[in-house]
Formats: sequence, structure tokens, C-alpha cells
Amino acid sequence: VTIPATELERLEVLGHGNGGTVYKVQHKRTSKIYALKVVYGDGDQTVRRQVFREMDILRKTDSPYIVRCYETYEKPSGDVAILMEYMDAGTLDTLLRNKGTFTELELAHITRQILKGLSYLHAHKIIHRDLKPSNLLVNKKMEVKIADFGVSKMMTRTLEACNSYVGTCAYMSPERFDPDANGGNYDGFLGDIWSLGLTLMELYVGHFPFLPAGQRPDWATLMCAICFGDPPSLPPGASDEFRNFMECCLQKESSKRWTASQLLNHPFLIKHPSPASADN
Ligand code: ADP
Ligand code: MG
Repeated sequence: VTIPATELERLEVLGHGNGGTVYKVQHKRTSKIYALKVVYGDGDQTVRRQVFREMDILRKTDSPYIVRCYETYEKPSGDVAILMEYMDAGTLDTLLRNKGTFTELELAHITRQILKGLSYLHAHKIIHRDLKPSNLLVNKKMEVKIADFGVSKMMTRTLEACNSYVGTCAYMSPERFDPDANGGNYDGFLGDIWSLGLTLMELYVGHFPFLPAGQRPDWATLMCAICFGDPPSLPPGASDEFRNFMECCLQKESSKRWTASQLLNHPFLIKHPSPASADN
């Protein structure tokens, strides 16, 4: 089933990002509601490159934990748009600001879904690279889905190029195949795990972990805190399992972090099994 752009009616703006605008739209013929991310042709070239990358990744992914893409549009004017499933509860960021911090039980349910999304992406050689509360969409069923692949990276690209050069390819060093890998390890992917740790901590304490509540310092201060400071840790009151889960994500040395599939079997998630009705 294809949905022509002319059959979509814009209802309201759902969000603005760097360069693009996301609208809530209705398909006039079926009355179904979708989200439409639009990047205008006269915009920044970097932003346009990002939306094409996002289109590429969303067309290739098929997981209940990744936002679904139904159509992509390209107008002669240069406007580009992506028709996605509409997530009717917004993002984890808006949810945090509207309803307040999350309990460990709620976070376990959220974490499991994000990890299933991440292990899907990582198994498909995709690094998200911008995991944060405002890029995690939620619906009223409390399903959580990963979105915004504007700065993501597909590691398969070098391998695809490789298939047409079978001869020379055999002599390529590991880092040629995977420029983000550090000595053949899982480095690029483990960046997403660090981001997951910070995201969960923010949802638990209510503010960005490296900064006291309400503070917005310059980038240099923040970078110093991240690079030279200790990783943030949970306040007293958090359970041992949750505290340990955080430590598995927030290791400054990436090789010490657990992978997404390892974390899915962490005691923190074992302790809070998924509700029978929801994901398994
Ligand atoms: P950007 O690259 O501009 O950050 P995002 O994909 O993160 O683009 O979208 C920006 C905002 O639009 C999100 O933070 C969210 O509030 C809203 N949004 C994006 N996609 C959807 C969707 N499928 N359903 C509901 N809201 C969405
Ligand atoms: Mg975003």
C-alpha cells in the first residue's frame, strides 16, 4: 500500500530538531494518524545528508523496538520527508518533564525494550550514536521505540563495497572494515551503551547526570566532567541490581562495558520480568 503525499493532511507540529520538522498528519482516505518528518530542500546540506541516511536505515530495519517507516518522499523542489508510525505519548524526555522521574520497575520495562532495539541494531551493524531521552519514542501502551537515525552509522557500507573487490579485500586490516573499532573490539557499538546508561540515570534522578539539577554550563565544562571526572553513580536508595546495571553501562573504558545482549540477561532485568501481556 502506498500513501501519496497529497493524501496527507498536516494536523500539528510534534517536534523541531536540527533542521527538520516532525508533523502529526492524517491520511485523509483512511483517517489513520502518522508522523511525518520533513526536511526542506533549501535547508542545510548536512541536514539533508542526515535525512537520507535516516531514510536508508529506517527502510532496512524491521523491529517492534525501532520506529516504523512506511513511506519516504522526495520532491523535485528538494524537500524530503519520512512517513513514520505515530507514537502517541511523545518521547521519554517529555514524559520525564510531565510526569516526573521513573521507578526502577518502570525503568526495567523501558530498559528491556531499548536493549532489544539496540541488540537488533548492533546485530545489523548499525550504531545509533545519538541515544537520549528525546530520541526514544513512547506510546500509551508504554511501548518504547528508538528513533532519529540522523547521525547513525551503518558499518555494512565497507563490506558492501568489499563484495565487488573480492581479490584485494582479503588483505584489508580489521580497522579498514570497521573504522570505529578499536583494535577489533566493539567500541562504536559500546558508545550506545554509555548513552543508554546516562539516559536511564537521567530518567531516574530527573536531570542530566553530569550536571546539578537546572544547570546549563558551556560545552568545555561538560566535556571536562565527562572525560576527566568519574562516571556518575546512582543516589542512595537505588537497589544493588540497578546500581550494578549502571556500572555495566557507565564504564569509561568501553571494553569494560557490557553489550546489549549481555545486559538483557542482567540481574536488574531478571528481577523485574516483563509483564506477560507486553513484550517477551
Ligand atoms: P531531530 O533529528 O530533528 O531531532 P527527531 O526524529 O528526533 O528529529 O524528531 C524530533 C522530535 O519530534 C522528537 O523529539 C519527538 O518529539 C517528535 N517525533 C519524532 N518522531 C515522532 C513520531 N514518530 N511520533 C511522535 N513524535 C515524534
Ligand atoms: Mg532528535
